[in-house]
Amino acid sequence: RPGLTLLVQAVPFGDGQKMIVSRDISQLEKLETMRRDFIANVSHELRTPLTVVIGFLETLIDGHEDLEPAEAMRYLRLAFEQSCRMQFLIEDLLTLSALETGAPAAAEEKIVVGPLLADIACDTELLSGGRHDVSLVVAGGSEGAVLLGSGKELRSAFANLASNAVRYTPDGGQIRLIWQRVGGGAEFAVEDTGIGIEARHLPRLTERFYRVDRGRSRETGGTGLGLAIVKHILSRHDAQLHIESEYGKGSRFSARFPAARLARDRSAVRN
Ligand code: ADP
Repeated sequence: RPGLTLLVQAVPFGDGQKMIVSRDISQLEKLETMRRDFIANVSHELRTPLTVVIGFLETLIDGHEDLEPAEAMRYLRLAFEQSCRMQFLIEDLLTLSALETGAPAAAEEKIVVGPLLADIACDTELLSGGRHDVSLVVAGGSEGAVLLGSGKELRSAFANLASNAVRYTPDGGQIRLIWQRVGGGAEFAVEDTGIGIEARHLPRLTERFYRVDRGRSRETGGTGLGLAIVKHILSRHDAQLHIESEYGKGSRFSARFPAARLARDRSAVRN
């Protein structure tokens, strides 16, 4: 079978006899490859900005007598931006690691959806700085909807999807944040009229460090870990991430929650 790795060992037993034991270690090998790739990716992602920071600092140290103050300030600012990039990456790595090592299921706070989405819409508008038309659409009987889960995690997942919409939608585009009932459950969706994604990339978007366009992701402050974090958070809430996109037209990312994650009771609500 392709991809099958067997570990075959001769194990002594009894009076000098040997038993042949074979073990399927394909899964272990796959994990080991994933671990190695991950470390290589993290090292690469950190090394690139660090090289830039060291380069600018060296120029400042070596040329401090000749550099114009404005030029020196430009180097400092660039070194600062790259340092921030490293900080975002480390924060995202810590978030992923905390999600992986934490309790398997998310906390069960009662989160009133309305105010949470209004906050996300407000943050999205601020982030977009008036460059996009941002709207919040609440449809399909969401009045008083309450989600069961971790407020902190869900806020971070929804904000992540909304900030991606801002980052991958050119100025003047539209971003819609939607909450609606779907079947017995409900979904939070972010629709944008942005650059869109070719179909061949869709299955890999939630892999760590997978980006369609590395340059664009970096330019807009991306770490390549956002959707991996979103997927993780959603699976802790028994929810699924659905991605639809048309290249050049826009995308729709939605988090679908099953009925069991919805409550109508607003008592003991926390937001
Ligand atoms: P990044 O930090 O690079 O944005 P993410 O994990 O959030 O990482 O997203 C992975 C990739 O998916 C991005 O690099 C980008 O290519 C693509 N992507 C995510 N959201 C959108 C969107 N709304 N429109 C177009 N492409 C997107």
